[in-house]
Amino acid sequence: MGATATSEVEARLRQALAEHVVRLHYQPIVTLPSARPVAVEALARWTDPSLGEVPPDSFIPVAEATGMIHTLGNDVLGQACRTTAAWPNHVEVPLRVSVNVSPLQLSNDTFVWQVAAALEESGLEPNRLVLEITESAALEDMAESAARLHALRSLGVRVALDDFGVGHSPLNMLRQLPLDVLKIDRSFVSRVHENARDAVIARLLIDTAHTLGLSVCGEGVETREQARQLMALGCDTAQGWYFGRPEPPSASLDDELHPPPGELERRLDISVPAPIQIGSDELVTIADPEATILYASPGSLAVLGYTPSELINSSAGDHLHPEEAQEILATKDAEVSERASVRVHRARHRNGTYRWLNTRTQLLRDQHGRPHQVVSTSRDVTPQVDAELQLASTAATLRWAFDQSPIGQSLSDFDGVIVRCNQAFAGMLGYRAEEVAGRKVSELTYPPDLAADAVNLTHLLDEQHATQQVDKRYVHADGHLVAARVWATTLADEDGDPAYVVAHILPMETP
Ligand code: C2E
Ligand code: MG
Ligand code: MG
Repeated sequence: MGATATSEVEARLRQALAEHVVRLHYQPIVTLPSARPVAVEALARWTDPSLGEVPPDSFIPVAEATGMIHTLGNDVLGQACRTTAAWPNHVEVPLRVSVNVSPLQLSNDTFVWQVAAALEESGLEPNRLVLEITESAALEDMAESAARLHALRSLGVRVALDDFGVGHSPLNMLRQLPLDVLKIDRSFVSRVHENARDAVIARLLIDTAHTLGLSVCGEGVETREQARQLMALGCDTAQGWYFGRPEPPSASLDDELHPPPGELERRLDISVPAPIQIGSDELVTIADPEATILYASPGSLAVLGYTPSELINSSAGDHLHPEEAQEILATKDAEVSERASVRVHRARHRNGTYRWLNTRTQLLRDQHGRPHQVVSTSRDVTPQVDAELQLASTAATLRWAFDQSPIGQSLSDFDGVIVRCNQAFAGMLGYRAEEVAGRKVSELTYPPDLAADAVNLTHLLDEQHATQQVDKRYVHADGHLVAARVWATTLADEDGDPAYVVAHILPMETP
């Protein structure tokens, strides 16, 4: 803007402020994955009779350069609080309002007082007001900004850091300033679904913010793919044209902000994978000693179907299988030391099913040796566990068939020791199955038939004789002879080497 244009804007803006014609439009901010509106951002709108519609990016800098920003800012704050306090509140959680604050407002001594007055005058609950500050605001004097933000938060007001990523964005700021929300700038969101680098950066920002206990809002979300990608990266809330444009207060805005049940489900289907899959499939959580989850990694979506913010502040026990929860949480203090422990257990997925997780847990202690944090890393091992259970049930079925078979069956090793036999075989010789297991075949065989047994065994070991059929005699417990026809074959071990002799034995007429 040239000097004349600027001075004209200045003059017109001065008049607009005197006439209170700068208005606010409200844009929804929604939670992920539900897409339910939880807040609105108030955005200044000014239409001048001669200049037409002047965008905030043009008149805010003029207001800042001329000191009018204090009047403008206070006007905006008052309007936003009044409108929001009057909003219909037929939702469980009343909507919050997010108001942009210029760096100059924040550096003004009376700002905290102005905010308190706006809350008081409108009757808006302080926790429904979010103040959006920008990096430059905070950067000018970090200590002073931090002190003022602390004062604002002690009113109950929340603080968001706007446009994060543009400008200097030192991570240091995130640690030093008392913040509640981090808003990721639109420039990072626009290609998050098609550029892997942008996706990785967004994930890093989101995860860093979560580690510090902040919630994250993605700005300028225009497409469903961007929304899905942000959600997969663990983003908590989103704002942008895809979820709604800024609008003046009206009945249609009311409707948009209070959608009927069922309306939202169509917007985001969480079962559809994100365009770029860089989300980890490992879930890392940090919990306090009482098992309240303080941090969850983006892997929460892949492992349990919940976004990190849905897990945070919940109790770890609520996600475990009721049969295991108590045991897992109880043994934690006693057994888990600085050395991590590993267990396979069940956890409930969002879709209602239980998943098998392999979880590595480590207890960290403070300098006095008291339990401080519990760090867990979980992987979904459901397919492996299912396969093992399947195998075990097959083995159980086979064992049952073996034990119940009306035909005598025995399993012996190559030293001739009976490893297992069924009742049909044991009963044929007047024993119980337990009495026969562990004995040598030779002890039960009529001695003159031992030589033939030895020959058969050598044939069996020779691959050309896969099955041997032989008629032989056993000695019954009471001493009489039992003639039987035996079919014997070898059974290989896991390496494919013959390890056992399986025999099917049918009694024949006594010789
Ligand atoms: P901001 O605080 O980052 O606000 C978001 C801007 O992105 C708004 O532009 C909004 O209309 C726009 N936007 C939202 N969704 C989308 C989207 O999906 N795609 C695109 N392309 N844009 C989207 P707006 O209203 O022009 O405001 C621009 C900036 O002016 C704001 O950026 C904020 O820094 C400043 N501003 C607006 N109102 C106020 C105010 O009352 N006080 C102060 N100090 N600054 C204000
Ligand atoms: Mg903003
Ligand atoms: Mg912004």
